[in-house]
Order: sequence, then C-alpha cells, then structure tokens
Amino acid sequence: MLNEKVAVVTGGTRGIGLEIVKTFKENGAKVILFGSRKESTEEAIETLKKDNVEVEGYFPKLDDLQSVEKVINEIVEKYGKIDILVNNAGISANKKIDETSEQEFEDIMDLNVKAMFNTIKATVPYMKKENSGVILNTSSMVSIYGQPSGVGYPTSKFAVNGLTKSLARELAPYNIRVNAVAPGITNTDMVAKLPKEMIEPLIKTIPLGRIGEPRDIANAFLFLASDLASYITGVILSVDGAARS
Ligand code: NAD
Repeated sequence: MLNEKVAVVTGGTRGIGLEIVKTFKENGAKVILFGSRKESTEEAIETLKKDNVEVEGYFPKLDDLQSVEKVINEIVEKYGKIDILVNNAGISANKKIDETSEQEFEDIMDLNVKAMFNTIKATVPYMKKENSGVILNTSSMVSIYGQPSGVGYPTSKFAVNGLTKSLARELAPYNIRVNAVAPGITNTDMVAKLPKEMIEPLIKTIPLGRIGEPRDIANAFLFLASDLASYITGVILSVDGAARS
C-alpha cells in the first residue's frame, strides 16, 4: 500500500509510533524514525533489525525549528523527498490544575503542539515541490471529550485537531492531505504509567470490550497514508472502540 514511499515517524521508538513504523515497512515504505534521545533511537533500530526491519533514525530536538530543519534537509538530500510525515511523539498528564506547574504545561504544549508545527513547517516546502504529500497527526479521544484532570493534555490535543483541520484547507491546493487519528485507551507505556484504579474502570466502559492495541491504531494510519484515502483530508478519525469518556 505504500510502495517506495518515504515516511518520517516522530515518536517512533515505542508504542503506537513503533507499530506505525513496522506497519509502514510491511507495506513497502522506506521509514525514518525519530526518537527523543540517541540511546532510545539506537535501541529501537537494533530491535527492529533483529526482526529484519531496516530503518534509519534521528533524534532532533523537536521543539527547536533549526534542529528539525537540519534533520529534514538531510533526509531529503538522502532520499530525494518525504511523502508521508507522521507527527506521533507526545506526552500526557494526569495531575489536577493546582498541582500542575507552568513548566509542566509548557512541556506538553512544546512537544504535542509546537513540535508538530516545526516538523510540518520544515517538510511542507519539499511536499509542495512534489505537489504531493500526506501529513498525519496523533490526536486523542480526549480531543473530543476533555478529561477530568491533566488539563494540558486535552488542551494540546484540541490544538492538534485545529492545526489538522486548518492545514488541510491551506495545503489542499498543493495536493497535500492532512489528517489526524484520535486513539482511545491504547496498550502502551503511556497507559502503563497511569494508576490501574484509573484505567481499569475506563476499559470496562468501552463498547468493543477491550483496550486498543497499537496495531489497531497503526492500521488507521496506514489507511490514511495510502492512496485508498486519496479524497480524505481534514478528518479526525476516532479509533477507540466507541469509547465516550
Ligand atoms: P509512548 O510513551 O509509548 O511513546 C511516546 C513516544 O514519544 C516515544 O517514541 C518517545 O520517544 C516520544 N517522545 C516522548 N517525549 C519526547 C520528546 N521530548 N522528544 C521527542 N520524542 C518524544 O506513548 P504512546 O501511547 O505510543 O503515544 C504515542 C502518541 O499517541 C502520543 O501522541 C499520545 O498522546 C497518543 N495517544 C496515546 C494514547 C494511549 O492510550 N496510549 C491514546 C490517545 C493518544
């Protein structure tokens, strides 16, 4: 489905991002993953190599435009183009507002929103040159419903939806599609970090009766990245088992 496409996946070292990397590779793409640190990036590349999955990795500072531009330029020099950009790196929060510091709020906005702006800004000139491209952003079910604590996280994901819908309109004349996937509760480290007493009752309320697996989410990214979605842009696709909390 993605034969010979060049794809960049941020937050590709574990969880949903790592599964997107694997799924895209299985479907013929050349994939470059971004991690937060040298060690975790190299570790992910080594793990994939053991399964005969060959990818390259970089670890730009995503909230620093210059650092991102340097790496994106290098990738285009090497691969000739970027067809698909997946903005998946993200952190969450679950503290009440009176326990949340200004710095913690800023950290979430820097990674979940500003980093997305930076990678898109660095990549779009190349996509415009090709008159083709796909940008996919990881949103969340909290971008629709909010959540009862950790206000920075839903705030950032509402922003992701705004950025997605607006850029879909701005970039459509250049044949660049921009969509987001909004996962529900998904079986990754991000959820493992949260208290069991908080997560288990939520899983029980999911109409499909189970937590989402990273592959459930990666398959939605695959569809939106592929030509099967050639007339879809500006969409926030919920992949959440009909969870509504
Ligand atoms: P995860 O914690 O397993 O992975 C997060 C990824 O982001 C990692 O690859 C990590 O390297 C990267 N990252 C973290 N901090 C970074 C930084 N400062 N700079 C660069 N990269 C950084 O989490 P996940 O569940 O796989 O989350 C992936 C995306 O899915 C996030 O955007 C998250 O908000 C979203 N999401 C997750 C769930 C869920 O239930 N797991 C639900 C909805 C949305």
